[in-house]
Amino acid sequence: MKQSRTFIPTLRETPSDAEIRSHQYLLRAGYIRQNTSGVYSYLPLGKKMLKKIEAIVREEMDAIGGAEVLMPSLQQAELWKETGRWYTYGPELMRLHDRHDREFALGPTHEEVVTSLLRDEVKSYKKLPLTLYQIQTKFRDEKRPRFGLLRGREFIMKDAYSFHDTKESLDETYEDMKQAYMNIFTRLGLNFRSVIADSGAIGGKDTHEFMVLSEIGEDTIAYSDSSDYAANIEMAEVNVDYPVSEQAEKAISKVETPGVRTIADVSEFLGVRPEDCIKTLVFIVDEEPVVVLCRGDHDINDIKVKNALDAKVVELATPEQVKEATGTDIGSLGPVKLPTGIRMIADHAVRSMRNAVTGANDEGWHYTNTNPGRDFSADSYEDLRFIMEGDPSPDGKGVIKFARGIEVGHIFKLGTTYSEPMDGKFLDNNGRQQPYIMGCYGIGVSRVLAAMAEQFQDDSGLAWPKEMAPADIHLIPVNIKDEEQRQLADELYHLITSYRYDCLYDDRPERAGVKFADADLIGLPLRITVGKKAAEGIVEVKFRKTGETVEWKKEELTDKLRSFFG
Ligand code: ATP
Ligand code: MG
Repeated sequence: MKQSRTFIPTLRETPSDAEIRSHQYLLRAGYIRQNTSGVYSYLPLGKKMLKKIEAIVREEMDAIGGAEVLMPSLQQAELWKETGRWYTYGPELMRLHDRHDREFALGPTHEEVVTSLLRDEVKSYKKLPLTLYQIQTKFRDEKRPRFGLLRGREFIMKDAYSFHDTKESLDETYEDMKQAYMNIFTRLGLNFRSVIADSGAIGGKDTHEFMVLSEIGEDTIAYSDSSDYAANIEMAEVNVDYPVSEQAEKAISKVETPGVRTIADVSEFLGVRPEDCIKTLVFIVDEEPVVVLCRGDHDINDIKVKNALDAKVVELATPEQVKEATGTDIGSLGPVKLPTGIRMIADHAVRSMRNAVTGANDEGWHYTNTNPGRDFSADSYEDLRFIMEGDPSPDGKGVIKFARGIEVGHIFKLGTTYSEPMDGKFLDNNGRQQPYIMGCYGIGVSRVLAAMAEQFQDDSGLAWPKEMAPADIHLIPVNIKDEEQRQLADELYHLITSYRYDCLYDDRPERAGVKFADADLIGLPLRITVGKKAAEGIVEVKFRKTGETVEWKKEELTDKLRSFFG
């Protein structure tokens, strides 16, 4: 690949709208260009990286019996209406009309399409299990497209769907997928963890996410410091035996607390610890207000509230909704003497609190010495709070630590969530009709490229591992107009490519400084510079990762390359 004949538009300046390193470098090194918010073109180097990632994904999917297909992006609305997702998916679903005014969506995911495909063809248990996968462009009108390829509105995903006649068969494929995902992310050289996740809007129960550990990750992973337990913080169970306080219950009393609203205000004003205060929140749970309590030093996890109440939608109430439901302003809310008829649930920790401080449902007043059971009673005590660093690990081994992660893959057991409403059925071996039992498995291929760029970089640019780079060698004659240098460079280019190394040959009439800076930005594992010692057949070799430079003789080049690349 001659640099003068390909398209690698490098930039000296950092584009002002690129906030993170991976995004800056992918733009500056000429891998990608933004077309519009969340929509990108992959230039030759970017496309080569995608192909390498996709090749590994394909190999591992094929190895567990996946069959590759390519389904349409353009999807008729009828399919989405069958599952109801046309109405519930929200504005992330890109919708459009054809010339006959029929409604369509641009596929953000393919459960509907793949189920409709099978239901007409796969009607016997004898044809199951079946795993189909594709690598394809997806569309999601993300509220906040950001960080370049990490959250696009048009992006590339590998999505796989499996169909089964029994739960056991699904379990088997799920385990195979999990192992295939481990293999993929290991082969990509990523520093990742598989974590227990929430199934979110897609439905279903058993699910794992694959997270690349990174400071800029949007997700928080709670992991044990002494076992392999790891979960998305949204899902991490809190498994703590709170000791009941030895304190005797004191008489409740109402104290004036002018202007005091938050837990921090209360604890400062009354000189008590946050863990001696009760935090009271109101959520609107499937349109009904529910009061939720936790200790002042804890935070309520709305996903746990949703799961505890088996609800569809849970949202924090607005101040107006709080007032309407409880008759009280948000800052003075507390569990004592709330109007009857409002459901109240509390985190386990609240049950063992003694003589706690709470809002008095009266602006400017709090209660001290409030005791659960005596002064208020929750309908139930549940695990409702976010886990915190230092909590015991839910598996009983070690304590919890936090790390940030980028979600690059997600596997779900869907069960019959899609096959049932879509009438995707087969005849079992007793001749009975059953809905397919399904699984679905995604990898954000373009997000993986960004995650790799985030991990493989330094202050001068990208620095790919030798197993995963858009090319192996960057060949640079210092001065292309120097006949001796050009001749040796040409000769080496032919030699290197004849040995099937992928070589980027910088044959541009640029200054050496520009070419070296571009080489550092682009990040190929090995740079071979043909300079002053060309006449002696000696080149300078720089290893991008370590920055180490050595001189190699022309005659020893192929041996040296073999020992470096293996
Ligand atoms: P997120 O929580 O990041 O929005 P998601 O749960 O919506 O992800 P899935 O529906 O599970 O994602 O999609 C499968 C995979 O596709 C994700 O694990 C992620 O790697 C990738 N992905 C999802 N949304 C995007 C996006 N907007 N841009 C790039 N990749 C994405
Ligand atoms: Mg999403």
